[in-house]
Amino acid sequence: QENQTTWHYPEVGGDLVRVVVSEQEIRDKLADLAAQIDRDYAGKEILLVGVLKGAAMVMSDLMRHLRSDVSMDWMAVSSYGAGTQSSGVVRILKDLDADISGRHVLVVEDIIDSGLTLSWLMETLERRQPASLEIATLLRKPDAVKVDIDVRYLGFDIPNEFVVGYGLDYAERYRQLPFVAVLAPHVYGG
Ligand code: 5GP
Ligand code: MG
Ligand code: MG
Repeated sequence: QENQTTWHYPEVGGDLVRVVVSEQEIRDKLADLAAQIDRDYAGKEILLVGVLKGAAMVMSDLMRHLRSDVSMDWMAVSSYGAGTQSSGVVRILKDLDADISGRHVLVVEDIIDSGLTLSWLMETLERRQPASLEIATLLRKPDAVKVDIDVRYLGFDIPNEFVVGYGLDYAERYRQLPFVAVLAPHVYGG
């Protein structure tokens, strides 16, 4: 039998500079966060809301640790603005399937960088009058603290470098990496 764990992806030292958060660290942290969430929402139904596509891995790995009664929904948004900086002007490409009024909504995010996308999203969701609205994010960068976003469940604060893996892409690649790593500048022509 072929060993599927050896399936290939660009290793550290090739396209990747270094691992920022390892597979084990992610697993342990998500188990901790899930335990906190289960305690905080005891007896309540949680609606997990993810933003496509980056949050796909966090969503699936976080929710498999949860013992609470959970549902899952997704939004797709596009952020207007030039280059790699997000502008805070956001358009909904795919909205939630269901009404969230009166529900306990937990937004599940991959990363908060400038925080502009998420602060727009939180305002948008708040207007729909959920019973509660909180954020769980695996990663946060230093710039995010400049925007007033109250993150209830945080995985890791990471340095201000462009990272890929665990759902995060560069030109749609590298999402499948089971860890988070810094992308080598030669990949994006740096
Ligand atoms: P923000 O609005 O907080 O600046 O950025 C939100 C989105 O930008 C994230 O959900 C993610 O898709 C993307 N992003 C921000 N920082 C990084 C990064 O270091 N690597 C990757 N691959 N995407 C990022
Ligand atoms: Mg995201
Ligand atoms: Mg992306």
